[in-house]
Amino acid sequence: MTTMTFLQLNDVHGYLHEHPEWFLQDGKETFRQVGGYARLKTMIDRIRAEEEHVLLFDNGDTFHGTYPVVKTKGESLIPILNELGFDAMTGHWDFAYGPEHLQQLVQQLHYPFLANNCFQKETDELLFPPSMLLPVGDTMIGIIGIASPIIDKTMPASFSEGVYFTNGDERLQEEIDHLKERGAELIVILSHLGFPQETKLAESFDDIDIILSGHTHNRLTEPATVNDTLLIQSGCHGSFLGKLTVTVERGKIVHYTHDLLEAEASIPEHAETKALVDEAMAPFEQSLQQVIGTTELPLHCLFLLLFKQRLLDFIINCTNKQF
Ligand SMILES: [Zn+2]
Repeated sequence: MTTMTFLQLNDVHGYLHEHPEWFLQDGKETFRQVGGYARLKTMIDRIRAEEEHVLLFDNGDTFHGTYPVVKTKGESLIPILNELGFDAMTGHWDFAYGPEHLQQLVQQLHYPFLANNCFQKETDELLFPPSMLLPVGDTMIGIIGIASPIIDKTMPASFSEGVYFTNGDERLQEEIDHLKERGAELIVILSHLGFPQETKLAESFDDIDIILSGHTHNRLTEPATVNDTLLIQSGCHGSFLGKLTVTVERGKIVHYTHDLLEAEASIPEHAETKALVDEAMAPFEQSLQQVIGTTELPLHCLFLLLFKQRLLDFIINCTNKQF
């Protein structure tokens, strides 16, 4: 019997620092300062100090989003991500600088990028390892990555130069069987399909124990359970750390607890990580301090669909550019 904790970050989108995050409190909209990799590192360290077996996963949309991250094509994030100490990641916007550049980024990480569904056009070979085995206490875990399948369908062509993506379910059973043959007792999917597709996946496959879900930015305050599979997703922008603790006996989850932990402002920032974040921000700090306009409306991603045109008008006004 082993008790282990899965920590999840998904869809951080380059939010290195804390930021105002939208909440509904007593039926009213409110914003609170939350997030930032330095604060998340404190939260992760505290859990690692308290518990014996702690794993940390990143569902992707990591190497893209904010100006400092995009300007360095994700490079500025490398020391920060390595400091947090993930066990594996998968991705989506992470392909924004082309698959070759993503491979270069991944080579610098101390952990693998897993994708069961990204193939090289020329050879039909997988571009990244599809899965990994991880011994945790006396339990062997098999983790399978599924990257976003829309990268070669709805994103600019350069994102998928030389590669193509499948939906991730085509060779999934084969991969599960392969991991089980090699001793995996618990099957975990690290996915960037999006919550609706992931619930479908859980319905269609009987051997999946846990799905770490990404892409759709859902704040799940408790796991969804579908066909005996536990699904968690933990908001976005590093505002939350998802925490799922499971007790596994003979390959079955016999008990679980879950918390969606808010990276709240009262949590101190981890000094070394903060220094790395400051270093990543330093070349851009001055230009980011420049005020280019003000708004009385909250320009939050949740309202983006509602205010998209207004936001575009605002950007066009400020930059004199056409889109
Ligand atoms: Zn995404």
